[in-house]
Amino acid sequence: MTKTLLILAGDGIGPEVAAEAEKVLNWLRDNRGLDVAIEHDLVGGISIDTHGVPLTEAALDKARAADAILLGAVGGPKWAGQPYDKRPEAGLLGVRKALDLFANLRPALCFPALADASSLKREIVEGLDLLFVRELVGGVYFGEPRGITDLGNGERRGINTQVYTTSEIHRVARVAFELARKRGNKVHSSEKHNVMESGLLWKEEVQKLHDAEYADVQLEHILADNCAMQLVRAPKQFDVILTDNLFGDLLSDAAAMLTGSLGMLPSASLGAKDPVTGKQPAMYEPIHGSAPDIAGKGIANPCATILSVAMALRFSFDQGALADKLEQAVSQTLSDGVRTGDIWVEGCQKVGTSGMGDAVLERLAALG
Ligand code: NAD
Repeated sequence: MTKTLLILAGDGIGPEVAAEAEKVLNWLRDNRGLDVAIEHDLVGGISIDTHGVPLTEAALDKARAADAILLGAVGGPKWAGQPYDKRPEAGLLGVRKALDLFANLRPALCFPALADASSLKREIVEGLDLLFVRELVGGVYFGEPRGITDLGNGERRGINTQVYTTSEIHRVARVAFELARKRGNKVHSSEKHNVMESGLLWKEEVQKLHDAEYADVQLEHILADNCAMQLVRAPKQFDVILTDNLFGDLLSDAAAMLTGSLGMLPSASLGAKDPVTGKQPAMYEPIHGSAPDIAGKGIANPCATILSVAMALRFSFDQGALADKLEQAVSQTLSDGVRTGDIWVEGCQKVGTSGMGDAVLERLAALG
C-alpha cells in the first residue's frame, strides 16, 4: 500500500531544508522501491500571508489523512506582533493538538565526527545515543486554571496548572518502554515527586505500568533537577528519558547542545495507534526554528530534516533498514569532512544546503 507523506515546509529555512529531505525521499522512491506519495501544503507565516490563518481546515484534513507529516519550520519577525492564535506557531500547535500527538521523541545523538563541536569534552559525548520521550499535549502548558488576574490591591497573580491523569501518563510511558526494548532496555523517568503531587502520581503510575507490563525493562526514577545535572556530567548513562511536557522542554534542549548543533537534530511526535487500522498519526520535524538570520542564503544545514526522514522511515513506513542506511550516510558525510557552515571546522569542505543534500545522497547510493 502506498504511504502518503504531507510536507508542510513552512517559513524561513523550512522550505530550503524540506527540499533536501524531499530529494532524499524521491531518490529512495526511484532507487530503493520506497512506496511513498508526497503531498504539500502551507503552515505558519506563509499560510497567514496566503489564506489569513496559520493552518487551513483543508491543510488539517490532509494532515489527518496522511500516514506521516514532515514539517520544516515556522515563524519569523514578520509575524511576531500578531496575537497568539494568529501567529505561525499556532499552525504547528494546531496540528499537534488536532492529531493528539502526545509523545515527542527527541534523540540526542553525537556523531563521532562532531564530538569536538560539543560544549563538553569529547570523551563525555562521543558515542552518545539517548532518546527523550516527552509528553507533548498535557501538563502545565495546557492545564486549567490559567491566566493573570488583577487582585485589585496593586498586585497581580499569574497561574498555570500542572495536571496529569493516569491514562495520560500511561500512554506516554508505554511509548518509552516499547522504544527502550528496541534500544538499551533502560528508562529513566524524570519528575519532581519530592515537591509536586503531579510528580508523585507520575512516578507511581510509571512504576505500576512497568511492574504490570514492562518488568523486563530497567526502570529508574530520577528527579528532574538531578537529571539536568547528570545530563551534563555523564550523559552516556542514559538510554531513554521519559518526562513530562515542561521538564522535557528544558531537559531535551540542554541535551541538544551536547551534540554540537541545532542543525543536526531530528524529532518525531506520535499519537495513538488506531486499534482497527493500526495507523498512528505522526509528525517529523527538525528541532530548530526558521532561522531568519540565514534564510534565503542557501546555507542552512539540512541534516536534521534528512534525519527526520529517517525517523519517518523507521516509525511510520516500517523501513528500519533504510532508516539505518540513511543515518549511516549522514554520519559518513560528516566523517568525510563535508560540512555546512554551522558545523564547519578548518580543513573541512564547506558546502551549502543543496550541496549537503547531494553529499548525503552520494553516500547513500554507495551503501547499496
Ligand atoms: P532557530 O532555531 O531558528 O535559530 C537559532 C540559531 O541557530 C540561528 O542562529 C540559526 O541561524 C541557527 N540555525 C538553526 N537551524 C539551523 C540550521 N538548520 N542550519 C544552520 N544554522 C541553523 O531559533 P530562533 O532564532 O530562536 O527562532 C527563529 C524563529 O523560529 C522564531 O520565529 C521562532 O518562533 C521559530 N521557531 C520555530 C520552531 C519550529 O518551527 N518548530 C522551533 C523553534 C523556533
